[in-house]
Amino acid sequence: ASYIIGLTGGIGSGKTTVANIFADLGITLVDADIVAREVVQPNSNGLNSIVAHFGSQILLTDGNLNRSKLRELIFEDDSERLWLNKLLHPLIRETMLQQCKEAQSDYVIMVVPLLFENGLDSLVDRTLLVDISPELQQQRTVDRDAVTVQQVKNIIGSQASRAEKLSKADDVIDNQGEISALKCKVQALHNLYLNLANNS
Ligand code: ATP
Repeated sequence: ASYIIGLTGGIGSGKTTVANIFADLGITLVDADIVAREVVQPNSNGLNSIVAHFGSQILLTDGNLNRSKLRELIFEDDSERLWLNKLLHPLIRETMLQQCKEAQSDYVIMVVPLLFENGLDSLVDRTLLVDISPELQQQRTVDRDAVTVQQVKNIIGSQASRAEKLSKADDVIDNQGEISALKCKVQALHNLYLNLANNS
């Protein structure tokens, strides 16, 4: 597919839920979180570069990346964090674009939690924001994960504000209602995106 929709939204907003409805309609998903893991699989260029830089101390005994060790090293040292971002961000972008190109559906949904924050909106043809109030973000996330309200508030505070995301998105899907209502909204957007993709 050459037409790409960037799907985003804050923590607990319903990105995965919305993406899965598009998938049920036959649309291929490209997920930034999954790609971020793929680019550091054993034998990947990404992992080989990390081992060349940090040494084999960065590997678990089974050959996989020791993520908690890596997190520790970059938390302590800004220059190491910058080095890692410079390595991984282009790799993640290229891999996501490659997966979009290979997708067989009429358009593709790229799911990117920090789409606007990381400037990845420049890679896509159109952006779709899943929007709910911060109160509902807190409630749904605490119901889903073993986290406190304060931890969710901190994450919300580290992400772009609701107003900023609303002002940047081409399309907004309100996910404060029932799942059945959500499905209708996704169906309507699907029809729009089929038209846009086929006329682009
Ligand atoms: P994150 O970025 O934190 O991974 P997300 O944006 O992918 O989150 P989801 O996991 O899709 O969000 O949704 C968050 C939680 O809210 C899930 O437990 C999901 O089942 C629930 N949820 C999503 N939409 C609705 C809805 N309309 N009504 C009730 N619950 C919902």
